[in-house]
Amino acid sequence: MKTVQTVLGEIKTEELGSVLMHEHVCTSSMGVALSYPQLYGKNFEQQILSDLKEMKENGISTVVDASPVTLGRDVKELKKVSEISGVNIIATTGWWGCEPPYLGPSTAEQWAQCFADDINKGCDGTDIKAGILKASMDKEGPTEWVTKMHHAVGMAQRETGKKVMLHTYCPTETPRHQLKFLREEGVDMNDVVVDHIPETTDIDFVKWIYDQGAWIGVDRMPIISFPGEYAVGTETRIKFVKTMLDAGMGDRMLFSHDIMCASTLYDNQPEEIYREVWSVCPERFLFIKNRLFKELAEMGCDPAYLWSLTIDNPRKFFEG
Ligand SMILES: [Zn+2]
Repeated sequence: MKTVQTVLGEIKTEELGSVLMHEHVCTSSMGVALSYPQLYGKNFEQQILSDLKEMKENGISTVVDASPVTLGRDVKELKKVSEISGVNIIATTGWWGCEPPYLGPSTAEQWAQCFADDINKGCDGTDIKAGILKASMDKEGPTEWVTKMHHAVGMAQRETGKKVMLHTYCPTETPRHQLKFLREEGVDMNDVVVDHIPETTDIDFVKWIYDQGAWIGVDRMPIISFPGEYAVGTETRIKFVKTMLDAGMGDRMLFSHDIMCASTLYDNQPEEIYREVWSVCPERFLFIKNRLFKELAEMGCDPAYLWSLTIDNPRKFFEG
């Protein structure tokens, strides 16, 4: 029997149902929201519960909360809202972002042990265990720190057998470095999902990732951001998903939005900025179901097949 670790314990892979593979229940900077939760919106917990309830009512059973410690992971909150809403939540360990100060000459081996402890013992002094690993490279490229953290995540993967999600920056093809570093630690590419693919429209590059045996993370769908931050617009992203499906990659596509129920990044803004940020995604966590899949159906895709991908692909990914 294959199982997946959620914040409420292990569940069978058949119990995952329809999964959103990369979202953020609550997201902040490391430590900030744990000390100053007032930086979230006023009713942030109600917002989280309202989003999770809406998912549940629309057939979405499981969410991967892609926030490791650097994105303000709060496993107690995850456990609480999972219990109330009935949505399975998978917590993340590993690393997102650049080197913070005051760490000194820590080694990849030390970090690997920290991440493995999150998986084997529990996170942040609790017995709530992480169920997936994350490594991240963005515009900065393969700096010494980022390289080290990929090796640490690779080592922890080999020790724990958990899956790895990668935050990437596809316009500069960071997955070429990232997959190489993980391979150097002996990670099987079938255990890796390369996220943020819709930041590119280069089908040859995505085909390269697919041919490595890794999974294709179709998130940033749509992109919500401060005005002017991202080049690839929503309609372009939707058309590119069709291009990937036509290229035969549907069997390895893992869908998600990469948006946040609550975050100190957006919730804190003046009302007009907050509204502008969310104006591209009034559907919130139902964008994929109600808009992406609807538009793909209008382009000739079978809606039942599209929905099945959100169930079968995550199950195969976690079982594989
Ligand atoms: Zn994310």
